[in-house]
Amino acid sequence: MDRLDIAIENMRALHYAHFCNIMPELVNRLSWSHKKIHEHQIAALKSMLRHAKAQSPWHAERLAGIDPEAITLADLAQIPTMTKGDLMEHWDDIVTVPGASRSEAEAALRNMRDQFYIWGDNTLFTSGGTGGRPGIFVYDWTSLALNWGGMCRSMETYIATLPLANGHKPRRLRLAAVGAELSAHGSFVVGRVFSNPFNQTQMLSGWRSVEQLIPKLNAAQPDIFSCYPNLIPALAAAAQAGDLKITPLLIACGGEHFPESSQKFAKEAWPATDILSCWGTSEAGGTFPCPLGDGFHISEDLVIIEPVDETGQPVQPGERSAGIYLTNLYNKALPILRYYIDDVFELDDKPCACGCIHKKVKQVHGRGFEKFQYRKTVVHPVTLQLAVLEQPQILEYQIRQTPSGVHLSYRSQGNADEGRLRCKLREALLSYGLGEPDVAVERVDQLHRTTAGKLKRFVPLLA
Ligand SMILES: [Zn+2]
Repeated sequence: MDRLDIAIENMRALHYAHFCNIMPELVNRLSWSHKKIHEHQIAALKSMLRHAKAQSPWHAERLAGIDPEAITLADLAQIPTMTKGDLMEHWDDIVTVPGASRSEAEAALRNMRDQFYIWGDNTLFTSGGTGGRPGIFVYDWTSLALNWGGMCRSMETYIATLPLANGHKPRRLRLAAVGAELSAHGSFVVGRVFSNPFNQTQMLSGWRSVEQLIPKLNAAQPDIFSCYPNLIPALAAAAQAGDLKITPLLIACGGEHFPESSQKFAKEAWPATDILSCWGTSEAGGTFPCPLGDGFHISEDLVIIEPVDETGQPVQPGERSAGIYLTNLYNKALPILRYYIDDVFELDDKPCACGCIHKKVKQVHGRGFEKFQYRKTVVHPVTLQLAVLEQPQILEYQIRQTPSGVHLSYRSQGNADEGRLRCKLREALLSYGLGEPDVAVERVDQLHRTTAGKLKRFVPLLA
C-alpha cells in the first residue's frame, strides 16, 4: 500500500468510528413521537432552505419568494420541484461544497481505483442510471454516515456488531454484502467506508453469476448477508437444492423492489432467518426495514417523501402514487428539494404493529417509466410478470418490449412450461387491446445486468 492508500484507509477508519458514534442517536429517533418528528422536520427544513438560499445560486433564484423562517410543513407545495435532469444540468450551481464541479467529479470517477474522498472529506455516489440518465451525488462526512446509518438502524442483529461508545461489547459476526464492484455506486461506497477495520465486511460482486457467488458464500458463512432482491430466488433455489449451505441470522435486501414471491422463497429456504427489506436512493437513502419483516418505514427525521399523482397532487395513504417528491433534510453538500422520482408508492393507512411512528410503506411498485407504449396502447409490464411468477422454476427473468409484443428471457431450474408462458403473455397483451401480439420466449444461461449489477426486469423499446 502506498502512502495515499494508507491515508484513505485511516480516513475510512475515522469515518466508521463517526458512524458508530451517531448510531445510538439514530436508533433513539425510531421511538420519537409524531410531535418530535414534526418539530425536527421543520427545523431541518428551515436550516436546509437557509443554506440552499445562501450557498446554491440555482436554488437561490428558485427560492426567491420563500422565507425559510416562516415556512411550515403545510407550505411545502410552495417549494418548486426539481428533476434528475435539473440536478445534472445545473450541478455546479446546486452543489455547495467550495471548489466542487461536475467536471472534476467526472474526472475523479473515471480515474478511480478504490473508494476515495474528494474536496476534503466529501464522497461521491453515482446512481445506476436505471432512470435513463446516470446521476452524480456528493455527500459530506456526516451525511454519508446518516445515509447508511438511517437505513440500517432498525436491524438489531447488525447494530449488535457495532462498537458503540456506551460500553457496548460488539458481537463478532461474519458480514457479507453483495453489491456493485469497484464503482461509486452506493452499495460499493458504503460497503467500503462503513466496514469495521477489525471485522471487515466481505464484499461480493453482484456483477457475477449466482454460480460464482455460491462457493464464495459457502466459504464466507455470513451471519449477516445483504444483497439485491433479484438474486434471492436463485440463491434460495440453490439453498433448497443443498448447493448453497449458509444459515444467516439476517438477510437484508435493498436497492430494488422485493416481490412477495421472492420473499416467500427466502422464508422457505431460511425459515429461522430474519429477512428484511428496504428501499433506498442515491439521492438520500430514505427508509429503514420494519423489524417485523413486513415492508419498511420512511426515515422521517432524514427525508420528506410526498407521494403524488400524475399532476403532482398529494396521494393519500392506501392509494398508489404515480411518483414521489423527495426532500433530503440532512445533506447540505447537495441540496435536494422536492425531487421527482417515478417510483409508485403505497403508504400504509394503519399504524405499524412494530410500534414505530415513522410512516410505513406497504409497497413500492414497478417504476413508472417502465411502461411499454405501443402507439396508443400502454401496457404495464407488472401485469406481464404474473405469467412468469406462476412458474416457480423460473429463477430470473427479463421482459423486453419488441415493436409488436414482448421478448421474455429467463433462467430456470428444470423446465418451465413455455407454451403456457407464451399463452399467458399473449393473453395479457390482448387484454390491453394490443392486436395480434408477437411473443417470444427464450431460456438463457445468463441475463444482462446494469453496470451496478442490478437486473432490469422490464426493458421498454427506446422511443
Ligand atoms: Zn414497522
